[in-house]
Amino acid sequence: MIMNMKISDLGEFGLIDRIGRTAVRSTKRAPIGIGDDAAALLLSPSAALLATTDMLIEGVHFDLKTTDLYSLGWKAAAANLSDIAAMGGMPRFCLTALGIPSSLTVEQIDEFYLGLSDCIRKQRTVLVGGDTCASRKDFVISVTVLGEADRKRVITRAGARPGDLIYVTGTLGDSAAGLELLKAGVRSRKPGVRRLIERHLRPTPRVAEGRKLALSGLASAMIDVSDGLSSDLGHLCVQSRAGAEVYADRIPFSNELTSIKGLEQQPFEYALSGGEDYELLFTSPVEREREVMSLRIRATVIGAVTRRMGMRMVTEKGEIRPMAPAGYDHFRSGRGRGSSR
Ligand code: ADP
Ligand code: MG
Repeated sequence: MIMNMKISDLGEFGLIDRIGRTAVRSTKRAPIGIGDDAAALLLSPSAALLATTDMLIEGVHFDLKTTDLYSLGWKAAAANLSDIAAMGGMPRFCLTALGIPSSLTVEQIDEFYLGLSDCIRKQRTVLVGGDTCASRKDFVISVTVLGEADRKRVITRAGARPGDLIYVTGTLGDSAAGLELLKAGVRSRKPGVRRLIERHLRPTPRVAEGRKLALSGLASAMIDVSDGLSSDLGHLCVQSRAGAEVYADRIPFSNELTSIKGLEQQPFEYALSGGEDYELLFTSPVEREREVMSLRIRATVIGAVTRRMGMRMVTEKGEIRPMAPAGYDHFRSGRGRGSSR
């Protein structure tokens, strides 16, 4: 056995796998545990409790120079609500745990909770507990959201079948472009610039869309786009033991992203590796496309699931290129995204 193995050799997802092997005992009461957007835990034969938690650390996930406290509270909540949405569930309860450095004021913590409350209230979710400690230097935030779903209607990452169409809600890439503008100190009042920045700071979790997909039974697999299309589609493919083909010219972009001048990258680069869009990425059998469209959830077909493993991108000119996961990995620096994370 190799001793003193570096965590960066395993990477974030290798480490999570290892934790799963070392510490997890499977139980029938947790049919979905580590490896999906949220765990699904059985309370009764028909009702599942969904549970997800996410941590945000100052200097790793956010910088107080580029976010206000209201937005930070909003986003911490939105990231968790989005994971419940990605299972097709209804968020219900929220717990928050904070490590607070002495540099923060009471008013700043008030602002944080105003943002968090506004975000969860929109989804009829209530704050029911948490923990509060002092932190030596950085602001540390942990948010947990508990949700509810009908056991049979939970949508996992694992159900995609070859031939299924791949859809994404809304538009991709705005958040990463918004972050780039924030970091460059762009203070323009132009609505387009403001809109991209808002998409980064105050993302909308697609809870209603996830519910419609769950209730209709149309989605075979689903994940939220938190790390970038290439990474998150990669997770869905691995869990479904399938591959994917994505058509570059079908990826939906906002008018703001395609029209603003001076951005460093092409829209599809922000979409593939940017992350933090919190849109839903799902698959559905090809013959049900009309039904998906009739749900009115602003979903766009961007590709198809393939029997052949791995992901490929079909360019506008019809060239086929391999598509490697390029999203963020906490322990492997220098890969993928241009985020502050
Ligand atoms: P997401 O981006 O949807 O929040 P993550 O990539 O953070 O998902 O996590 C992937 C899966 O691994 C999730 O099911 C999560 O619950 C699980 N997970 C991550 N870290 C740990 C850990 N330290 N212990 C147990 N499970 C973990
Ligand atoms: Mg997720």
